[in-house]
Amino acid sequence: MSHFVTEDQAAFRDAARAFALKEIEPLANRIDREERTPPELTAKMAEQGFFGLFIPEEYGGTGADLTTACLVLEELAKASPAYAGLVSVEMILCPEVVLVLGTEEQKRRILPKTVSGERLMAYSQTEPSGAGNIEYHQTKLTPDGNAYRLNGSKLFCTQGEARTYLIMCRTERGGEKGYGCVVVEAEQEGFSVAPYEDKLGWRGTNTGPISFTDIEISPDAVLGDLLTANADIGLIANQASFLGHAATSLGCAVGMFEKTLEYVKSRELYGAPMVALSPWADRLARCWNRIEAMRATLYTGTRLFDEGRRDLVFGSTCKSWVCETAFEVCNDLLQAWGGSGMMDSTGINRYFRDSRAKLIAEGGTEMHNAIIGRYALGFG
Ligand SMILES: Cc1cc2nc3c(=O)[nH]c(=O)nc-3n(C[C@H](O)[C@H](O)[C@H](O)COP(=O)(O)OP(=O)(O)OC[C@H]3O[C@@H](n4cnc5c(N)ncnc54)[C@H](O)[C@@H]3O)c2cc1C
Repeated sequence: MSHFVTEDQAAFRDAARAFALKEIEPLANRIDREERTPPELTAKMAEQGFFGLFIPEEYGGTGADLTTACLVLEELAKASPAYAGLVSVEMILCPEVVLVLGTEEQKRRILPKTVSGERLMAYSQTEPSGAGNIEYHQTKLTPDGNAYRLNGSKLFCTQGEARTYLIMCRTERGGEKGYGCVVVEAEQEGFSVAPYEDKLGWRGTNTGPISFTDIEISPDAVLGDLLTANADIGLIANQASFLGHAATSLGCAVGMFEKTLEYVKSRELYGAPMVALSPWADRLARCWNRIEAMRATLYTGTRLFDEGRRDLVFGSTCKSWVCETAFEVCNDLLQAWGGSGMMDSTGINRYFRDSRAKLIAEGGTEMHNAIIGRYALGFG
């Protein structure tokens, strides 16, 4: 339960909870096992308006604030932290990039198609040389007559059923070099997606390599200023997305906590309820405390954002600390399940695996701590 929410925010949260229980929970083990997003679920998500929740009304969305979006992601993550991770990319990260960088015409062209689920989006920055150290990135946009050509490859792009890709790349204009963002459509000649790759956690999101061979990019597919897009994304769009990601980690811990609570209440050991054994009430209390602290931190971050205070350091605090703490909580809770926790059939170890994957995606803890450390030391 989240505190200090408005009636509207609570209504969205409760609707998401009901949807997650009915539509996502029954599919969660299948998504994890098969590494696939069921298309029927995507269609229902679009019908319920989840993909357009954070997109302003003038572009066909609901125009809800970030707090509402995070409350919704938390609920979805309670059923499937992996699927919620993918939704976070489609609900917050990609629309924010278009909203922050795009022209009015680009927003009107791109965003309504994401709201309807017709063309979901993916965002790709990471390359073999790493995610954040962009000076080493090789994907390049080169001027060619009145248009451009895109060449290169990316790693770990979370795609689900995306058809529109937002690609960060090295750029140049009149000899001046920079780092920009271009829109690539899945059907464009020269675009390719590597086959599905199994992974430890956050399964079902189709996270993998993509590549570009001499793709023609028209000027209206360049988002924002060709040379400086990354500064805007770093300062604004990523903050919302770090908080969205943290909300899926919080939901992961809460979902596992609720399931574990049910389990320990019904489990008998040595002829008595398991909770009568001294460590368990204490361990559950310690998990509860950390969940309350994560919630307080995350929703302070969303409130700051909703009030227009764009604070990248706080975004990194939420991403690194909430995600790390959620993993610790899931690790502690797994122990309560004994051998049953190791078995895939209980569906509980995916919370542990998903919470672990969330320490890497959207920038590893170390990258975020480097940002926080620089700020704390007064270096920037
Ligand atoms: C499930 C999943 C989904 C993903 N989805 C996407 C996506 O949709 N789009 C996308 O662009 N990327 C995506 N990524 C990539 C993700 O952002 C990177 O994997 C992550 O940022 C780490 O980069 P790397 O894998 O290159 O590791 P490396 O850069 O090789 O890092 C190795 C280690 O060094 C640490 N490190 C990094 N920077 C610093 C620093 N400044 N100081 C100290 N240590 C540091 C890292 O945290 C890590 O522990 C995804 C990754 C995963 C696992």
